[in-house]
Amino acid sequence: MNPLVIIGTGLAGYGLAKELRKLKDSRPITLITGDDGSFYSKPMLSSALAQNKDAQGLVMASAEQMSEQLDAQVLTHTFVDHIEPAKRQVVLTDGQVVSYAQLVLAVGANPIQLPFRGTGASDVMQVNSLADYAQWRDRLKDVEKVILIGPGLIGCEFANDLLKVGKKVALVGPDPWPISTLIPEKAGRALQQVLKKVGAQWHLETFNGAIEKEGRHYQTTLKNGTVVDGDLVLSAVGLKPNVDMAKAAGLAVNRGIVTNEYLQTSDPHIYALGDCAEVNGANLPYVQPLMVGGRALAATLAHKPTPVIYPIMPVVIKTTLHPIVTMPPGDRAGSWFMSHTPKGVMGRYMGEGGVLEGFVLTGEHTKLKSTLVKEMQTAIAA
Ligand code: FAD
Repeated sequence: MNPLVIIGTGLAGYGLAKELRKLKDSRPITLITGDDGSFYSKPMLSSALAQNKDAQGLVMASAEQMSEQLDAQVLTHTFVDHIEPAKRQVVLTDGQVVSYAQLVLAVGANPIQLPFRGTGASDVMQVNSLADYAQWRDRLKDVEKVILIGPGLIGCEFANDLLKVGKKVALVGPDPWPISTLIPEKAGRALQQVLKKVGAQWHLETFNGAIEKEGRHYQTTLKNGTVVDGDLVLSAVGLKPNVDMAKAAGLAVNRGIVTNEYLQTSDPHIYALGDCAEVNGANLPYVQPLMVGGRALAATLAHKPTPVIYPIMPVVIKTTLHPIVTMPPGDRAGSWFMSHTPKGVMGRYMGEGGVLEGFVLTGEHTKLKSTLVKEMQTAIAA
């Protein structure tokens, strides 16, 4: 029977099941999820307010519809407690046991919990699921201004979304400039300026970690003495791969669940895919890598071992008031060559041999994305 069990019904879990069925693989599949199993696009969570979509409006298919479409069993509101690799079993929190021939961990990533201090610390919100988004939308009804902690990629997208629906936003964080881990300073400053023009307040390099509640409002006093107030606090300080279950099962973990290029973990019957996986040393928590990985893993599971080969995958940042596309060069040796025009910023990262190794484009320059991707592909092929 060769049953396949997939833990997780995010884009990785459902995506893999879809790819397997496309290959006409008819083995029994069981998908297990702690949530309601709705199929939706998680990137929409930080851009759905401006599109006037509520949580239900983001759902593309219910768990029942997915079960029918995939000819698979979907166990919803069901938590896996632990895995017993030696017995090839998954043990649920209610004690039930699910056996597998092959198991795929598609358990995603969890929001990083900063150790906030102060009387308002426990009210800080995080948005990483449909249920969180429903609560976020609901809480925003009476809110004029949000204190947003974490001006990284996801934080800036939430700020963009809030500004577009007329809310005020104060962005607070230790970061030297917006999205500083992914884009060079000039590009971050371009975004900062545009969002400032439409009302964003920026408080960079000054957060001290304390949130105080004053009646129905919140306050944080920054290291420089400035007091920032708001009606709601959102933390968007990044995500951490969910490795606990894998670690407890004795699988190799690092930042993510360690896999080889076949997405196989240190146990030959267990694979990992999506935000939880660290494939050949790289944890890439974006949609394109999990789609490329899902196609390769489906082929491997269908008896055609296929390594994951990632193409050039720029990151598209949905700050629609000033869009950004970036292909970070990682730790490759080279230098940034930046130009700033009224249309936005263009940065080319040139490696030692004069070869394009990365780029950043903002504003109207984002239209050049495919040209620069082609240039990088040509350099790789040469
Ligand atoms: P998830 O969607 O997190 O799914 C994890 C699944 O595991 C869930 O079904 C959960 O219930 C289940 N699970 C976990 N533990 C257990 C357990 N013990 N028992 C049972 N079930 C369990 N990427 C982009 O490429 N572009 C973007 O613009 C972009 N924007 C984003 C905006 C936001 C706000 C966020 C949060 C992410 C964004 N991303 C974006 C990242 C992208 O959404 C993720 O890479 C992708 O959705 C991860 O999918 P996943 O299936 O790996 O994980």
